[in-house]
Amino acid sequence: MPGPTPAPLPGPIDLHTHSSVSDGTETPSRLIRSAVDAGLGTVALTDHDSTAGWQEAFTAASGTGLTVIPGMELSTNFGPASVHVLAYLFDPLNADVVTETARIRDGRLHRAERIVERISADYDLTWDDVLAESSDGTTLGRPHIADALVRKGFVPNRSAAFESILHWRGGYYEKYYAPSPLEGVRMIVAAGGVPVLAHPATYGKYRPMDDTVIRQLRDEGLFGLEVGHRDNTDEGKARLRVLAAKLGLEITGSSDYHGDGKPNRLGENTTSPEVLEKLVARATDSSPFVG
Ligand code: AMP
Ligand code: ZN
Ligand code: FE
Ligand code: FE
Repeated sequence: MPGPTPAPLPGPIDLHTHSSVSDGTETPSRLIRSAVDAGLGTVALTDHDSTAGWQEAFTAASGTGLTVIPGMELSTNFGPASVHVLAYLFDPLNADVVTETARIRDGRLHRAERIVERISADYDLTWDDVLAESSDGTTLGRPHIADALVRKGFVPNRSAAFESILHWRGGYYEKYYAPSPLEGVRMIVAAGGVPVLAHPATYGKYRPMDDTVIRQLRDEGLFGLEVGHRDNTDEGKARLRVLAAKLGLEITGSSDYHGDGKPNRLGENTTSPEVLEKLVARATDSSPFVG
C-alpha cells in the first residue's frame, strides 16, 4: 500500500537549471547528484523548450530526499528580443505544448545550421563538428556551436565564444521561431502550469518589455518574476521588486546552472519556501516529485 507523500526536506530552493537535454553539460542524473551534493532541498529542471529530462531526473532523485520540480525554459520572441519564460508543473503531454516546443526545437536546429554556415565562411567549422557536441534530441543552441569552436581551438571556452563569434553583434547571429510571451504564458497556464518571467532585467537601460506588457502577462496568469539571477542588473532588480509589489507578482531566485558550461553555481540565488508553496498551489494538475 502506498504510504503518505513524504514531506519535502527543508533546504535551499533553486528553480532554474539546465541538463544535457538542452545546453547544460551534465546529464539529468548527474545534475540531480550535483544538486544533492550542493545541499539543495528542491531543484527545478528547466531545460530549454524540452521536458525530455524529467523522467530521468525523477528516477535519479528517488531515495535522495531531494524535491524535483519539473519545468522548462520556454523561448519566446518579443520584437527583436529573445524573452525566456520559466514554466513549472505543467502537463508535458498537453497537445499545444508538445507541438509548439517541437516547432521551436526544429527552428533552433535550422537556425544553428544557418549560424554554422555563416561561421564556416571564415573558420574551419562544419555542421558535423557541432553535432558531435550534442546527443540525439538535444535542444540545440549556440552553446553547442561554442563547444565545437572550443574543441577546434578558436576560442578558450564557451563564455569567450559568446563574447566574440557567437555574440548577437558578432556578425554570424541568426534568430529562430518562437511564440510571443503572451502566447507562451497562455499556453503554459492552459496546460495547468505556472509561468515565471526568467531574468527580466538583463538588459541594462534597454527594456524589451515595459510594465504594461508585464501587467498584461500577469492578467493572463504570470505568477512571478525571477529577480534573483546573476545577469539581472542591480538597478533592474530594484525596479522589478517595485513592479512585483505593484502587480501582485511573486519573486523567485535561482542559479541558471549549466554545469561546467557557465560559471553559475547551484544555489547561488534561491527562492523562499513561502513562494514555492504558492507556486505549487497554483499548479492545477501536477505536484513536485519528492525523492
Ligand atoms: P541560444 O539559446 O542558442 O540563443 O543560446 C543562449 C543560451 O546559451 C542561454 O540560455 C545561455 O544560458 C546559454 N549559455 C550557456 N553557456 C553560456 C556561456 N558560457 N555564456 C553565455 N551563455 C551561455
Ligand atoms: Zn541555456
Ligand atoms: Fe534564459
Ligand atoms: Fe536558463
